Amino acid sequence: MICVDCDRAILGPAVRAGVGESMSGARLDGYAHPPESEECQPKEHSKQALRKALRAQAAAGRR
Ligand SMILES: [Zn+2]
Repeated sequence: MICVDCDRAILGPAVRAGVGESMSGARLDGYAHPPESEECQPKEHSKQALRKALRAQAAAGRR
């Protein structure tokens, strides 16, 4: 499985990520690293910010 956020292989657990709602209207489902995963290192800055937010959220939810 390849992570849709960072394009790296997912070795551990994965979560389903909706990639769809693209211009073509085709719905493409993919997999992504879990929110709390430290392995996810997207190259894009927008995705990096999203991952950071997800990690913070996951950490807060665990309490
Ligand atoms: Zn990833």
